[in-house]
Amino acid sequence: MINIALFGPPGAGKGTQSAFLIEKYNLFYISTGDLLRKELAEESKLGLEAKSFISAGKLVSDEIIVQILEKTIKENPQASGFLFDGFPRTYIQAYILEGLMIKLNTSLNCLISIELPEDESVVRLLNRGLTSGRLDDNEKVIRNRLKEYEEKTLPVLNFYKEKGNYVAINGLRKVEEVTAQIEEIINKEMSKKLMNVVIFGYPGCGRGSQGMALAKKYGLEYVATGQMLEEEIKEGTEMGKRITQLYENGELVPDEIVVPLIEKKIENSKNIRGFIFKGFPRTLVQSYILDGILKKHNSTISKIIDIQVSTLELVTRLGIRSKTDHCMPYDTSIEKIVNRLKEHEDKSIPVLDKYKEIHDVAIVNGEAPFEVVFERLSVEIEKGLKNLR
Ligand code: AMP
Repeated sequence: MINIALFGPPGAGKGTQSAFLIEKYNLFYISTGDLLRKELAEESKLGLEAKSFISAGKLVSDEIIVQILEKTIKENPQASGFLFDGFPRTYIQAYILEGLMIKLNTSLNCLISIELPEDESVVRLLNRGLTSGRLDDNEKVIRNRLKEYEEKTLPVLNFYKEKGNYVAINGLRKVEEVTAQIEEIINKEMSKKLMNVVIFGYPGCGRGSQGMALAKKYGLEYVATGQMLEEEIKEGTEMGKRITQLYENGELVPDEIVVPLIEKKIENSKNIRGFIFKGFPRTLVQSYILDGILKKHNSTISKIIDIQVSTLELVTRLGIRSKTDHCMPYDTSIEKIVNRLKEHEDKSIPVLDKYKEIHDVAIVNGEAPFEVVFERLSVEIEKGLKNLR
């Protein structure tokens, strides 16, 4: 969940930028100004109470603001992130927003302030007044709104400066340039809240095909160490040659080779929502390594999924695969298949046991058609996304 407040004087372009942001980041838009205008148009009790303030360019009471916020949030319980425009408008409303975030079990990522000189605000608002039909887009009221902004709204910035989650942008720049800057800030915020999934399960449980499909559906990067090692071999890199040698000698690929590959993959993955790890961590040692790698990026494991399939079904599936083009070097005979399952039992089950103590491990029944299992896994990923704060 990502929550942003757009800040700036009237005419800074908050509405224009919001239209783009809600689309791109799938945010739920809360513009207190729009909500008030809707109440006004409906001539509701709240609207009538607010009318005289709005038409004079004065701020309406916190009582009214909290009522419309509560109403909107109650009507939209599915929202997966909020974009606030025109709120908080006072130092006191900054506290109200904190309270609102606590109620929603989340927090505000940052306040983005689009800064603009007063004269430019006036010019823009008078221009907008020619077509907006808003009762507050005329010179006298505009001056009042800017006065209110100066006196009551600007102190909000100190609140967020003190908290350390305030970012300023020059609103005189072109619309697209401002958009690009906001995008950069939000992407940075999002990278702090990556959704990192580890998919567990015995070989043959479908973790590879499901992992890839889930990564595609949710905009996550699929990190499969086996596949990465294969790529190095295919590309004929120095590392690839060493890996081939190890494979030929029947030796395990050491962490000194696997870890840099994962690091490279993470460094090169920009603007993504998170990672799905498959085939790593495979040992207790690797589980500590993964925690360390994620910590370096200010992140952590968000979800662990264990796909469960009976041994009989696993052996059947791997046996079938060994007769197709997807046959892996390690499933060409029943002995190799059994060895691989045994290896998983010895090395990877202790990892899962460790994770069960500290993380939320979801168990998913993998004995069903692909689409059915995919649906079960999607439910778990969505739960994980909702819990990201
Ligand atoms: P806006 O569309 O954000 O420019 O808001 C238009 C008018 O609605 C303002 O001039 C205020 O009268 C009122 N308003 C909007 N948001 C708030 C708020 N958070 N607190 C108090 N008054 C507000």
